[in-house]
Amino acid sequence: MNAPLPPDRDADVLIVGAGPAGLHAAFYAAWRGLNVTVLDARHEPGGQLTALYPDRRVYDVPGLPAAPAADVIAGLVRQLDGLPAQLHLNTLARTLEADGEEWRVGTLGPHGPRTYRAGAVILAAGLGALRPREARVPGTHPDVRTDVPDPAALAGRRVLIVGGVPQATRAALELAQAGAQVTLTHRRAGFRGSPADLDALAEAGHTGRLDVLAPAVLLNVTPTGAALTVDGQPRDVPADTVLILNGYLPDLTPVQGWPLGWQGEYVPDGVGGRTALSGVFVAGDVAASGQDFKLISVGLAQAAVAANHAAHHVRPDLRVRPGHSSEKRLS
Ligand SMILES: Cc1cc2nc3c(=O)[nH]c(=O)nc-3n(C[C@H](O)[C@H](O)[C@H](O)COP(=O)(O)OP(=O)(O)OC[C@H]3O[C@@H](n4cnc5c(N)ncnc54)[C@H](O)[C@@H]3O)c2cc1C
Repeated sequence: MNAPLPPDRDADVLIVGAGPAGLHAAFYAAWRGLNVTVLDARHEPGGQLTALYPDRRVYDVPGLPAAPAADVIAGLVRQLDGLPAQLHLNTLARTLEADGEEWRVGTLGPHGPRTYRAGAVILAAGLGALRPREARVPGTHPDVRTDVPDPAALAGRRVLIVGGVPQATRAALELAQAGAQVTLTHRRAGFRGSPADLDALAEAGHTGRLDVLAPAVLLNVTPTGAALTVDGQPRDVPADTVLILNGYLPDLTPVQGWPLGWQGEYVPDGVGGRTALSGVFVAGDVAASGQDFKLISVGLAQAAVAANHAAHHVRPDLRVRPGHSSEKRLS
């Protein structure tokens, strides 16, 4: 059973990063009865799997042979159903400060700056906050967007999306679904995306729910549209919003100022995922103990250990070891 949060706390355990390590840590801490909040800079959970390779199959996640990366994440998110865990997306963690026995994490989120107070923090930041890559189209106007806005805000608007990465495919589908008039263009004929997204794109293009212009040569892009050629024929595509989507680049700098004794891109961790700071734990790609084994399976194991140590840190009455889930009821 989860105990109510003390009034001065936003979460018992605050997890930075909703990649596989952060999601699995959330499962364990919440299953132990703690209130968990997971922050991620991106608009969706999944870390590298959903940002960088949702279109690929993963062969080495135990028990999930040849699983599409997006399915691995969907399963980890589903495992949080009914547990006291919430995801706060589009939220970048920037500062860490001690507050007596607790921790304060300063963030920048959809509603501006906010401070979260938590009994323990698990840093599962992977390679870093996955931020949209800059537009690489020469002469692009600086007001052209490189991130995906809230689809609901663009219902009924003309949206031009430039890009062939999975993020562009997904954004085109989501925006069309939300009622935007979408044109998707890329310099190559093919698009990347999960098998389901590519099927949906083919169907949407075929039925005219969105316009696909590819391969196309982009001549000029402004915030109000683009000039391009398709099969050598010039086309002007006017738009209310133009998105150039090139995928993501990881950025660890927002957390590298935290006094954790960083060794390059890694945080040294001891038994139980402990760091130099009592009550701050680490798991996944960012944990030094992984010794360059940047693998989902390694991060999941580190997350299970760190989350249970964090649970015991916040609630010393809870034993560190969780016992077997097969012998307990979930709710
Ligand atoms: C192309 C590719 C293929 C791969 N294939 C495989 C494979 O087949 N098998 C395998 O086991 N592994 C594979 N990997 C590696 C695997 O994806 C990683 O080991 C795994 O994603 C690490 O999980 P994580 O949760 O530690 O970090 P990540 O997946 O990197 O997630 C970290 C999350 O933290 C967020 N974050 C970081 N900093 C902040 C901040 N300051 N504020 C808010 N949010 C923040 C990021 O936005 C991100 O969502 C592959 C990696 C790549 C790039």
